[in-house]
Amino acid sequence: MSLIVQKYGGTSVGSIQRIRNVAARAVAAQRAGNQVVVTVSAMSGETNRLVALVDELSGGNYSQREYDVVVATGEQVSTGLLAIAIESMGVPARSYQGWQVRFVTDGVHAKARILDVEADNIRRDLNEGRIVVVAGFQGVNDQNAVTTLGRGGSDTSAVALAAALQADFCDIYTDVDGVYTTDPRVVPKARKLERVSYEEMLEMASLGAKVLQTRSVELAKKYKVLSSLEEGTGTLLTEEDEVMEQVVVSAIAFNRDEAKITVLGVPDKPGIAASIFGTLADANINVDMIVQNISASSGDTDVTFTVAKGDFKQALAVLKDPVANMGARDVLGDPDIAKVSVVGVGMRSHSGVAQRMFKALSADGINIRMIYTSDIKISVVIDEKYMELAVRSLHQAFELDKDSGDRVRG
Ligand code: ADP
Ligand code: ASP
Ligand code: MG
Repeated sequence: MSLIVQKYGGTSVGSIQRIRNVAARAVAAQRAGNQVVVTVSAMSGETNRLVALVDELSGGNYSQREYDVVVATGEQVSTGLLAIAIESMGVPARSYQGWQVRFVTDGVHAKARILDVEADNIRRDLNEGRIVVVAGFQGVNDQNAVTTLGRGGSDTSAVALAAALQADFCDIYTDVDGVYTTDPRVVPKARKLERVSYEEMLEMASLGAKVLQTRSVELAKKYKVLSSLEEGTGTLLTEEDEVMEQVVVSAIAFNRDEAKITVLGVPDKPGIAASIFGTLADANINVDMIVQNISASSGDTDVTFTVAKGDFKQALAVLKDPVANMGARDVLGDPDIAKVSVVGVGMRSHSGVAQRMFKALSADGINIRMIYTSDIKISVVIDEKYMELAVRSLHQAFELDKDSGDRVRG
């Protein structure tokens, strides 16, 4: 007998009929001889609606603890409805909220990390023949307060639960049938990947492909959770050496959610970077890309970096005084940028990827504002208005719309 964790996203539980379909799939999996745990998100649009209520009431100035109390409620509704739907099909079911399981997290509201999953009650229910329905996205901290795991966090709940229960499989069902070479909403010709390595998926997720939350991929890699999008026909997340097709570039990711800040004309002396980035860290602002240019003639330096769009205004505000004190010439901000990245483990052993990437962008007249590389990715920052064009050009330049057997190999 296998133990399977299935996760259904907001679209899959977005209406009563869809909840009935999910119930039928869970029941079918149990009838096929498996123990079944189902993790669900809130019904589609619900979490956005709840976030908007908090914003409307508070104008953005609110207690993170109470934000979590509000936004966690979407999952309570979908778990209850799904358990009712399963029972109406004659199979015993029971729902659990995050605090009932319990998903024990740290205290960082709105982006909590799971520390422990206490799943004894779930094991008992499974042994008694129930289908267990678990609220994704939620946890509880050591103060007994409700926490949430960040947007898209139900993926992480499902993988963490699969690891804790030593499930044989974690199937993630969403509104696409797998991980594609890029977001199929932007490039309709994108192709589904049969397998993707944990590392490539980790890069794709952290570079903006929201099909899986980054933290869920980290956990899948750490606990070797075999995870797939859809059963059988989807994409299997697995070890690098299990991915047969070693093409150079596997996927294109993009992120419109960053903004660029440049501190101009900073005196080039020790301690400057520590001061700028220390100030941002103290304000809990994460910095992504950093580029520093030293002018040989003036001895000054420009420091450019990116932050999440949501942190942009606050970053400019907290930097104002320290930057004036260090004698910088000016601070410039640009929120209308996007980051586009090419990802592939094949880059480790092949050169020429950067050249091909930059050539494709220049052929479309797209100016590159920042460049960042690691061993399996190259990211560029460009003007936001060119993002979709850039993604489509790169998808074509790396022949990702072709069958993987016919693609660029270096
Ligand atoms: P869910 O609500 O089920 O968690 P999400 O909206 O979080 O679903 O994630 C699914 C979406 O991720 C897809 O609709 C698609 O637009 C987007 N996406 C981005 N990059 C990719 C990719 N490389 N492959 C597949 N989907 C992607
Ligand atoms: N409902 C939550 C969100 O919209 C969690 C999730 O869908 O994974 O972010
Ligand atoms: Mg999601």
